[in-house]
Amino acid sequence: MKLLIDKLKESRSLSKAEWIQVIEERNSDISEYLFSLARDIRHMHYGHEVYIRGLIEFTSYCKHDCYYCGIRSGNKAAVRYRLSKEDILECCKTGWNLGFRTFVLQGGEDDYYTDERMVDIVGTIKSLYPDCAITLSIGERSKESYRQLFDAGADRYLLRHETFSPAHYDMLHPPALNVATRRQCLYDLKSIGYEVGTGFMVGSPYQTSENLADDMLFIKELNPHMVGIGPFIPHCNTSFKDQPSGTLELTLYMLGLLRLMSPKVLLPATTALGTIDPNGRELGILAGTNVVMPNLSPTSVRKDYALYDNKICTDDEAYECRQCLEKRMQSIGYYTVVARGNSHVQS
Ligand code: SAM
Repeated sequence: MKLLIDKLKESRSLSKAEWIQVIEERNSDISEYLFSLARDIRHMHYGHEVYIRGLIEFTSYCKHDCYYCGIRSGNKAAVRYRLSKEDILECCKTGWNLGFRTFVLQGGEDDYYTDERMVDIVGTIKSLYPDCAITLSIGERSKESYRQLFDAGADRYLLRHETFSPAHYDMLHPPALNVATRRQCLYDLKSIGYEVGTGFMVGSPYQTSENLADDMLFIKELNPHMVGIGPFIPHCNTSFKDQPSGTLELTLYMLGLLRLMSPKVLLPATTALGTIDPNGRELGILAGTNVVMPNLSPTSVRKDYALYDNKICTDDEAYECRQCLEKRMQSIGYYTVVARGNSHVQS
């Protein structure tokens, strides 16, 4: 097994059979070995710096009905909210003063935010904060829409592919959504010039090692700037409410593998990781991640962006989230930096 980990480190790729083996035959010794190599690579490219991204969850309305997601349209118990342009600008102002130079606007797929409205919001943020990067995470849109948002000033786009396997994709999504469209969106975003992030949930219902192997091969091919992975966590108002969460152990392992496969990739220690374990994000950093995304959304709406149960940080003000993460990073020998973050394409 160590030979396979070494091979991944040297060649940055594995065959599908090797990916399956490296996932299925893992043990705690191999994990520790992987994490130490992943940390070395991370230190080589990023030292002990951790990039911070200010997350603004601006709408909990969603027209889609993804079976795993707490804000899916079919969840009639979900409390829905929308932030106005002024609310969003206020979040950016707070964030800028706290040292954020990247704003991530994330939301459900909400037709209220037409191209015209989003172009106005993105353009205004860009004119007020020209030194900041704007990341959008607002799901599937037309190529023309992506282009307009890019021209308005959006720099980056996060769209998890969720799972490469069409069969697995269909187990997680209603028939209106399909894997081909999702993937086409990613290729459209790349061709327009966005720095693209993709990713998947670890331990999503019915996920197999083969699915994970396919996910790694897809990420290798797409060569994104960022990869967001976190554990699946059930939400009580979804059909997956009784499914087990993804584990900390497998999530950390996949993060370590990603660092070896894509040495310079931006890899967040996600809120979901911090939700399944109180030290999840610190352990994520020690497994090779280099980004954290504190929440800048107003506390009045935080609880309502409930993708999964028991989400952390729903009561803390933005500055508390910022300080808390700073302390957490310092406790393990890392520190957050005020920077837009690295935008070099991986070699
Ligand atoms: N609507 C946009 C989209 O689909 O890309 C962005 C918002 S969506 C809620 C953001 C991500 O949350 C999804 O890509 C999914 O991987 C993650 N997510 C949703 N439900 C989750 C759950 N129950 N556990 C963990 N992650 C979840």
